[in-house]
Amino acid sequence: EEDKVAKAKQTPMMKQYQAVKDQYPDAFLFYRLGDFYELFNEDAIKGAQILELTLTTRNHSAANPIPMCGVPHRAVDNYIDILIDKGYKVAICEQMEDPKQAKGMVKRAVTRLVTPGTKMDLKGDDAQSNNYLTAVLPQAPGFKLAYADLTTGELKVTSLATEAAVINELINLQTKEVVYDQELPASLTTVLTKQNLLLSHQTPQTGQAEISYLTQALTDDGEIAVVTLLVSYLLTTQKRALAHLQVAQAYELNAYMKIDHNSKANLELMINMRSGKKQGTLAWLLDATKTAMGSRLLKRWLDRPLIDQAKIEERQDKVAVLLDHYFERSNLQAELTKVYDLERLAGRVAYGSVNGRDLVQLKTSLQQVPKIKYVLETLAAPVFDQLTAGLDPLSDIAALIDQAVVEDAPVAITEGGLIKPGYNQQLDTYRDAMENGKQWIAELQEKERAATGINNLKIGYNHVFGYYIEVTKANIAKLPADRYERKQTLVNAERFATPELKAKEAIILEAQEKSTSLEYDLFVAVRDQVKAQISRLQALAANLAELDVLQSFAVVSEDYHFVRPTLNQRHELKISGGRHPVVEKFLGHQAYVPNDVVMDPQTAILLITGPNMSGKSTYMRQLALIAVMAQIGCFVPADAADLPIFDQIFTRIGAADDLVSGESTFMVEMMEANNALQNATPNSLILFDEIGRGTATYDGMALAQAIIEYVHDHVHAKTLFSTHYHELTQLDQRLAQLKNVHVGASEENGELVFLHRVEPGPADKSYGVHVAKLAGLPASLLARADVILGQLEKGTAAAAPTPTTPPVAPSSAPQLVEEASGQLELFGPAPAPAAKPADKKAGQVLAQL
Ligand code: ADP
Repeated sequence: EEDKVAKAKQTPMMKQYQAVKDQYPDAFLFYRLGDFYELFNEDAIKGAQILELTLTTRNHSAANPIPMCGVPHRAVDNYIDILIDKGYKVAICEQMEDPKQAKGMVKRAVTRLVTPGTKMDLKGDDAQSNNYLTAVLPQAPGFKLAYADLTTGELKVTSLATEAAVINELINLQTKEVVYDQELPASLTTVLTKQNLLLSHQTPQTGQAEISYLTQALTDDGEIAVVTLLVSYLLTTQKRALAHLQVAQAYELNAYMKIDHNSKANLELMINMRSGKKQGTLAWLLDATKTAMGSRLLKRWLDRPLIDQAKIEERQDKVAVLLDHYFERSNLQAELTKVYDLERLAGRVAYGSVNGRDLVQLKTSLQQVPKIKYVLETLAAPVFDQLTAGLDPLSDIAALIDQAVVEDAPVAITEGGLIKPGYNQQLDTYRDAMENGKQWIAELQEKERAATGINNLKIGYNHVFGYYIEVTKANIAKLPADRYERKQTLVNAERFATPELKAKEAIILEAQEKSTSLEYDLFVAVRDQVKAQISRLQALAANLAELDVLQSFAVVSEDYHFVRPTLNQRHELKISGGRHPVVEKFLGHQAYVPNDVVMDPQTAILLITGPNMSGKSTYMRQLALIAVMAQIGCFVPADAADLPIFDQIFTRIGAADDLVSGESTFMVEMMEANNALQNATPNSLILFDEIGRGTATYDGMALAQAIIEYVHDHVHAKTLFSTHYHELTQLDQRLAQLKNVHVGASEENGELVFLHRVEPGPADKSYGVHVAKLAGLPASLLARADVILGQLEKGTAAAAPTPTTPPVAPSSAPQLVEEASGQLELFGPAPAPAAKPADKKAGQVLAQL
């Protein structure tokens, strides 16, 4: 009842507002009122807080004043960005007619719904990343997944077997918004919500010409359905034709090297674990691209390393050519630097949101293409033939823009000044009329001065009165009364008009108005001609992006002394002088100790021992990074490398917290181990860093050994396994495919010196106490640990407890170890300092199992 009364009391404007708002309940509605966008009611209360705006009310006097806040229309983009970044949606409601001409209420309509996945103008760092919107459709037994980047027009689709694969793909794509139609499984929704992904419901619209066009290359009905769903959402939110969306391409995850999202995070391919930024990652190290398109493509390549040897070698061939031609490469870089973001320009052309400046940027970019082509041709390398042929300079478009648009075009496209003289005859006529009129007025000033004898008489212009003749008060008397009509009185002067001045003014203003509107029409026509060529523009952009990434690989390969790896199908791995490229970059080429990794076809497992901080995990990561670099076509940080092609990389490395599920450390450790054991093939690479350390010693060592045996007997993947259970090194006597290596360290005057050098055979000493010393533990504590160690080593711990030690029964020895290691954990990951003898016992126990 109350509601009805309230509604009945609403003003016509608030009724209109409410009708629109009802259609967009989950979005902030930006309601255009003159020069402002206004927010009302709940939107206003929440919006004022987030956007730091002043909350006011409409109808102060009414019983229920309406909360309201507003943003100036010129600054609206910034406010939209803030809300979108926080994961909200914004509906933009515009005035659809000129308020001056409207009869009754001004018509208004939502022209666009901006959402995190459909944000168009990306600035700063975002320019170098894709912004993906994803749609997911459950289709027993699996899922269909499609994604699009509205800014570039990329559209892809795939079929995935499991929920885990869906989550993996969504995280890899760093998507911010997921579109669904049919209810998604609750377990999936929970993870997505935890990831702060916005879930948007959409009903698919079938039978649209645009959708049939975009799905023409697909054969799988489910894939067609999910693309239909995704595009339906784009069309409903954007409310315009999206000419830049590219025909959907199906892809198969099996066609690329697979790395799950946790492993990607652990290897820091794209995101630094500590800072969450790009700095310090492989993507950062390899990125010497000159364009945003190149930078984005590099990330896509890193996300999907190849497994097809021929394709990898083709990229390597191109990198090799560029590496050998320093001079040409420098030229290419110089030209690429002048190329703007063509992919996103194409998107904005389709959107109708480009201005004169954008088109001039497009022209400048296109003008580089013939030069780039020329340089590539001088390389005379057949491997570049296809790419070179794909560099369509769109000379027709470049010429059109060059003829039509002025070089220093203004930001606005409605205020004239953007079309070049000579482009359109009618426009030139209007401009002549304006020019002549102004000339006439300048002459009139001279005539009037002569006629009146007033030397400081002048003719001016303002928006309110138009052209006027201004005479200072002192000279008014000199004016003949009849011809001059008084318009405005100032402190020191009077302003007048004459009939002939007003007549001329009408001509000038009309010419001006017509010329501005003609310029707008001409500009839109140019824009439409560019729009008709969007697919050519996109093809060009793709080729330029590829060239940019390849030159980037050449640059970093030279700067960081990378070599071209060879690839083999023999399950053989041979790296000499391998380095971790990012650690090396920070330490310097000289300080980094290169290491070999050698695994012949008969070797599946390298068991790595050595003290903490000696470089075990760096050694393992380095192998993974080298494999990824090789398979994206880049050269690798080594003196020489011969590698198998890996189908998947699994890691159980570093911080164990699952980034998604929030499971406990040890649970995650086991889940990741399981994932690797279940899914790895003989062509996979597995990195297990101290598996088992998350639980009690016996427990952990038992699991570690069983896992090694399982890999050895059933999985056969190339596996690096680091451990501080020295007992495990004896496994090489039983397991033919296992080899021991250790990272050397030496003792000098009781100090531990890390050599970071990987050598054959097992490590022979536990350095826990020394590491504890490096960590700065009190000297008395260290001395005490030495005593306990000595006792344990003599196997007399139980028999001869010293006064400061609680009685240690054989069964409680591992417990003592746990406590000691617990303390050390405070200073970083460290082994149990006195673990060795206890472990030895455990090893004996296990050996008997
Ligand atoms: P672990 O896994 O054995 O505890 P890390 O691999 O974490 O040791 O290495 C510890 C530190 O040693 C690294 O942060 C790095 O600074 C340094 N380091 C590792 N490997 C090398 C190397 N090959 N050359 C030089 N320094 C290295």
